[in-house]
Amino acid sequence: MTLSFDPDSLDLSAYHYVGGERIVANGELELRRPSDGKAYAGCPVADVSLVDRAVAVAKDAQRSTGWADVRPRERVKVLHAWADLIEKEAVALARLEAVASTRPVAQLVALDIPVIAEQIRFFAEFADKEGSDVVPTGSDSFGMTVSEPYGVVGAITAWNVPLSLAAWKLGPALAAGNAVVLKPSEMTPFSTLHMAELAVRAGIPAGLVNIVLGDGPTTGAAITGHPDVAKISFTGSTRAGSAIMENIARTGTKPMTLELGGKSPQIVFADADIPRAAAAIATSILANAGQACVAGSRLIVAREIADQLTSAIIAQMQSVRAGYTWDETSTYSPIISAPQMERIAGIVTAARTAGAECLFGGEPIAHEGYFYSPTLLSGVDETSPAVREEIFGPVLTVQCFDDEAEAIALADHPTYGLAAGVFTRDLSRALRVTRTLQAGTIWVNRYGRSRDHILPTGGYKQSGMGKDLGRDAYLANRKTKSVLIGL
Ligand code: NAD
Repeated sequence: MTLSFDPDSLDLSAYHYVGGERIVANGELELRRPSDGKAYAGCPVADVSLVDRAVAVAKDAQRSTGWADVRPRERVKVLHAWADLIEKEAVALARLEAVASTRPVAQLVALDIPVIAEQIRFFAEFADKEGSDVVPTGSDSFGMTVSEPYGVVGAITAWNVPLSLAAWKLGPALAAGNAVVLKPSEMTPFSTLHMAELAVRAGIPAGLVNIVLGDGPTTGAAITGHPDVAKISFTGSTRAGSAIMENIARTGTKPMTLELGGKSPQIVFADADIPRAAAAIATSILANAGQACVAGSRLIVAREIADQLTSAIIAQMQSVRAGYTWDETSTYSPIISAPQMERIAGIVTAARTAGAECLFGGEPIAHEGYFYSPTLLSGVDETSPAVREEIFGPVLTVQCFDDEAEAIALADHPTYGLAAGVFTRDLSRALRVTRTLQAGTIWVNRYGRSRDHILPTGGYKQSGMGKDLGRDAYLANRKTKSVLIGL
C-alpha cells in the first residue's frame, strides 16, 4: 500500500470534541500546509464558555463513569484496546498529521505511531501496579498514604510532534484515573482530534477525553486558569510556560508539569568513534528539520578532530531529500510556517554579521512551501544569537575546546538544560562529565530517545519542571492523601 496521498482529499472540517460529540465550529484561524504554503483549512478558537463546558463534562464524566473506581485492570484493558486501534488506524492518523505538520507520512507510520501505541500500553500498565502505601508510624496509630487521581487534567501541546505529545499527556493522565481537556497547537489540530475519537471507540467513556481547539491567549489561558482543572500538563516554549505560570498564579494555584524549550549541546572528545558521533549528531539536527525540543543544536568538539567530524556531518547534510510531507519518499521536513522561516533566516544572518562562517547551508531550499537547508555555523561564541537562542530549525553551531573543563563550560547554557550528548570511549570521563552537566537527559555515545519509555524526559533550568514519560509521568497525574488512624 502506498502511503503517499493527495492532501486535498482529506476531510479537515473544523470541530471541537467534547463528551464524545463533535461541536462543529468556524475555522477562524487560517492554516497553511508547511510543504507547499497553501491555505487548506481553519482552526476554531474555543472561548471561555466552551472551555467551561468541556471542563464540566470532564468533571462529571470522571465522577459518574467510575473510571477511577473500577478495578484498575479494567482501565488497563481499555487503554490497550485504544493502543491497538491507534495501530490499526496508523495510516489515517499519519495522513491527518502529515498534511498539517512537518512530519513526513512515512516516518509517522514507521516510527511515531508504533511508539505512541507502545507508550500508551506502557502507561496503562501502571494503573494496577502503582498504589497506596502503609507507612511506619507509632504503635498507637495506623498510617497510609493514599494515591488518588486529580480529577480533571488540563493539557496543552506544541505542533512539532502532535500525536506523540498527545500520547505523553493523555496516556498517563487516563491510566491514573483522570479526565482530560486537551488543547493541541492551533497549527496542527486534526490528528489529535482523531486520536481522541479512537479513544472513545476503544471503550474509554465519552467525556474523559475532550479536545478543544484554539490559540494560547484565549483557549489555553481559559484551561490553565479554570478552577476545576486540577493539574496542568504543558509542552511548548519557555515563553508560553512562563505565561502559564503567571496565569495560574493570578487565578489560584495548581500543580503543573512544564516541558519547555532547549538548546542542547553535544560534546565530542578526541577519542570518540567519529563516524558514529557524526551520524548521531547529524540525525539529531536533521530530524524534523531541527524542530525538536531535544535537537542537539550546539556541537562542542575537541579541536584536533573538528575538521574530520564536521566533514562527516556535512556529508550527511548533503544527503537530505526535501519533499512534501504527503510523499512517502520524503525524508527531510519543511519548516512549520513562513514566520518561523523568517526567524531562522534572521538568526543565521545575525550570526554571520557577527562573524560566523557558514560551513554548509544557510539558505532556503528551492521548493514550494517552507524548506530551509541544513546549516552548519562555525566561528561563533556564547554571545552569538545562533548559540544563545533556541532556533527550532536545522541549524548546528560548532565550537572547539582544548580540555574537558572548557568543554563543560561551553556546554553550560545560561537558560536551557533539556538534554546533552557526550561522545567518548573513556568511561570515567563519560561518567564525570555526565555528573557535571546540567541537563534533564544525557545521552552517551548516542543521541535521542530510545524505546525505553521508563526513562523520564524533562528539563533543568528554564527547560521545564516535572517529567513526561517514565514512572514520573504516571505519578505526576496522581495526588497523595495522608491518612492516620488512631488505634
Ligand atoms: P508555543 O509555546 O508557542 O505553543 C505551545 C502550545 O501552547 C500551543 O498549543 C499554544 O497554543 C499554547 N500556548 C501559547 N501561549 C499560551 C498561553 N499563554 N497559555 C496557554 N497556552 C498557550 O510552542 P510551539 O511553537 O508550539 O512549540 C515549540 C516549542 O515547544 C519549542 O520551544 C520546543 O522546544 C517546545 N517543545 C518542548 C518539548 C519538551 O518535551 N520539552 C517537546 C516539544 C516541543
